[in-house]
Amino acid sequence: MQRNKSVLLGTATLLSLALLLVLQTPSVEADRLQPKGYRETVEKLQKYYVKFEDKVSREFRRWKEEGTMSQHFRQLIQASAIGKSERAQEIRELPTTREGPLCAICRGFGGSVLEFRREGASREEVYNTTVELCTMLNLQEESICRGLIELNIDTILYIVDNRPDLTSASLCAVVFQSGACVLDDSTFTDWQVDVDSNGTPVTASKAGTAQRGPNDLKIVQITDLHFDPNYRTGYNAECGAPACCRESQGIPEDTSAAAGHWGDYRNCDTPWNAIEDLIDRVAEEHSDADFVYHTGDIIDHGIWETSIGYNVRSINRVISKLRDTFPETPVYNILGNHEAHPTNVYELGEVTRPDFSTNWLYHLSADLWSHWLPRAAQQTIRLGGYYTALVRPGFRIIALNNNDCYTFNWWILFQPDALKGQLQWLHDVLLQAEQAGEKVHILAHLPISSDCFSVWQREYRRILERFRDTISAQFHGHTHKDEFNVFYASENPEFAVGVAWNGGSGTAHTNVNPNYVVYYVNPETYEVTDFESYAYNLTSANLTPDERPDWFRMYSFQEEYGLSDLSPAGVDELIQRLGTPAGRDELRRYWEYKVKLADASLVSDCTEDCLLNHLCEIVTNQADDLRKCQELSDTFFD
Ligand SMILES: [Zn+2]
Ligand SMILES: [Zn+2]
Repeated sequence: MQRNKSVLLGTATLLSLALLLVLQTPSVEADRLQPKGYRETVEKLQKYYVKFEDKVSREFRRWKEEGTMSQHFRQLIQASAIGKSERAQEIRELPTTREGPLCAICRGFGGSVLEFRREGASREEVYNTTVELCTMLNLQEESICRGLIELNIDTILYIVDNRPDLTSASLCAVVFQSGACVLDDSTFTDWQVDVDSNGTPVTASKAGTAQRGPNDLKIVQITDLHFDPNYRTGYNAECGAPACCRESQGIPEDTSAAAGHWGDYRNCDTPWNAIEDLIDRVAEEHSDADFVYHTGDIIDHGIWETSIGYNVRSINRVISKLRDTFPETPVYNILGNHEAHPTNVYELGEVTRPDFSTNWLYHLSADLWSHWLPRAAQQTIRLGGYYTALVRPGFRIIALNNNDCYTFNWWILFQPDALKGQLQWLHDVLLQAEQAGEKVHILAHLPISSDCFSVWQREYRRILERFRDTISAQFHGHTHKDEFNVFYASENPEFAVGVAWNGGSGTAHTNVNPNYVVYYVNPETYEVTDFESYAYNLTSANLTPDERPDWFRMYSFQEEYGLSDLSPAGVDELIQRLGTPAGRDELRRYWEYKVKLADASLVSDCTEDCLLNHLCEIVTNQADDLRKCQELSDTFFD
């Protein structure tokens, strides 16, 4: 952490050097941690960032007026170019030292394009300009830039044209939402859910889950299958695109770059044979499962070339397979950010243009999911892709479509308070459940912590806190990691109020083994008493392509950590232990399971800073609330 600070402070001395150095600080590892004095450092550097943005804006103008790029502009672009390893990462996984530079790059270039459009540039001019910048900034290869911009440009232009008060500062702050890219715009922050006032203040961590028992329900979670119909064994796994191993990418000369039969650790999704194997394996080995939770991301990472027809075909194929395999076992499905076309873009119901509508996906889902759902669920699925179902007397599922809060969902920029609709519905259903004495499981694709818009996170936490006694568990996907999150009360952050479990992924994208999870659930409280994660080693599986993968029980959470129980209070005890030097070995094991013992991840060590960061990820559920992380940092090293 000291290291980050000195890099930042040292660069503050000379402007030109500072710009180059600050912009090119190499990416080391994921970072939730803010080094001491971070805020002051960011403030000091702010004037350099502003100068940088002005320069970019001036040189951009010259480029457009004179038709050629100045040498200086090329230098600015070069200094801003993104490292290849950064491309594939989620914003939240980038190191703290990159927060300021990335925000300045976004404001500089993004702001220039915004002005360019508002001064009358045509769609074609904006398209050509952004393709050129995207390629030169190394955001993606040119063909990928072209595809991505073609798919997204109309939405973005509509928003820019119809929201004239939208600034690049707000735009970048919403997308990056880091300590160096702060949102100062009340149209984004001044809305809230109407929360029932009969709640009680949090005065203790939520306790009391029973131990695993013989009558526990068994629930299997399958998530993030990312089926790629274009996957071909032996094709190029090192193609540089967000999805490789595809037919159009050819067979590599170097055989070490060839895609494996059961999947590949590199940027590759899942071949059909691996999807079938996983689903069949669940049915064969867990035929006594009471339910299946399938938490989204059926579609591959070919985000630059999706289409509605393409997505419909993949979704149909996977859901049909689930229906054929589990005719009697209820499967509760939700949507992932990849199901939408364009990827991540979920219209919020405020715009009537049919070409922007997400209705095709909602109607498709209502039809495909209905096999396992009560009729009444259809109404909200057709409205916004979410629903509730009473599974048995006293036990209810609430299935959210929280992909709307993903900071890459451009529609947040158009009307942020439109996010309120589904959250208010969540609140109202929980209130009715509370009055009926029901317990609830919430299913949502995006972990609350995972690049969800911070105001949405804030409001979700208010609801969770109010209904902490009704919500027995939360289940997420999206990160492809075997991990969990603990929620703490906003006013009294010493008390844990909820836990969310992440099912990992069926895909090996990227550097993880495929897995699924079996939960044991108390039949009265509906709290999770234990879970087991099942995985296979992809390296070994690919050595014997003719044999089905050798699935094994990776671990039982209860056995591994020896908890009194898996309630928020019980899991908080574990967090306290992991936050001290004595808990280091356990924390390392947590990280190893998090990547599902994948060879491709275990080859690079996780340093102490890296481990602390993984611990921080468990307890940070709101982008602008790092208190629990700071608290754990204080006890971590001594
Ligand atoms: Zn995913
Ligand atoms: Zn996802």
